[in-house]
Amino acid sequence: MKAIEIKEASFQYKGSAQPALWDVSLEIEKGEFVLLTGPTGSGKSTLLRIINGLVPHFYEGRLSGSVKVLGVDILSMRPNQIGTMVGSVFQFPEEQIVASKVWRDVAFGPENLLLEERLIRSRVDESLAFVGLESLREREVFSLSGGEMQRLALASILAMRPKVLLLDEPAAELDAKGREDILGLLDRMSREGGMTLVLADHRLEDVVGMADRVVVLRGGMIALNGSPREVMTHSDVAAMGVEIPKAIQVWRHLHSAGFSLPTLPLTIREAAEGIRYLRRVSTERKRAHR
Ligand code: ADP
Ligand code: MG
Repeated sequence: MKAIEIKEASFQYKGSAQPALWDVSLEIEKGEFVLLTGPTGSGKSTLLRIINGLVPHFYEGRLSGSVKVLGVDILSMRPNQIGTMVGSVFQFPEEQIVASKVWRDVAFGPENLLLEERLIRSRVDESLAFVGLESLREREVFSLSGGEMQRLALASILAMRPKVLLLDEPAAELDAKGREDILGLLDRMSREGGMTLVLADHRLEDVVGMADRVVVLRGGMIALNGSPREVMTHSDVAAMGVEIPKAIQVWRHLHSAGFSLPTLPLTIREAAEGIRYLRRVSTERKRAHR
């Protein structure tokens, strides 16, 4: 069974002249980490909304095709049922926070699932520990920084133990440190396994190397779908409005200057290793010619 199975889905917002998604088919395996990218307006958020049921339960419009999460048709579930399977973290954490005290916010989801008191407490503890906020558990939410608030939003979703986690530009409002913290947590979740992650981000820096797969949207359609290396070396990727990470830019420069690296670097560290490799090769060649 697939974690997510979308078949020929199209969606047009009510009052909008054209569809936001057009004939999208996409399968995501359990435990996969998929990065959804493409320029603003390409349909990333809408695609996440057809998976978490916000389309059509909250955003009205015309939806066709089918969307299944763990084999269950999303349209057959009520919004509160969907919440136990699919968790979502959005761009603005303050819109997701429901309580004024940190630990209360994390407890809110499990309380609504009517879990036992003891289980609620352990879920609050584990989730806060995972995102590194245990020392702030008694704090008022308004006193948190943007990055801390986004980690809290993530903890509150994780406390419900969703099988699928959707993240819509979760670091867009954060500073560099906040982005690094959130991406680090996603990387850990993906490596520890179990959870299926779909991250929508128009920025690929620091994230393209973590994902198992990259899906590029353009004008509401899937333009590219492959491994990070396949997508990043595709000749059209820059023309599609996809941000090219620095490591890949280095590779492109080297490539066009006639130098070839054994593998495509996805991180700055890998790019630096590649340059060291080229230096070594060139020194050895010079030595051999002496
Ligand atoms: P992205 O997340 O990639 O920026 P969106 O899914 O937000 O893309 O937008 C896809 C298209 O749908 C755009 O043309 C956008 O204007 C339109 N759209 C998004 N949200 C709404 C909405 N709530 N009502 C009407 N149109 C919308
Ligand atoms: Mg968006």
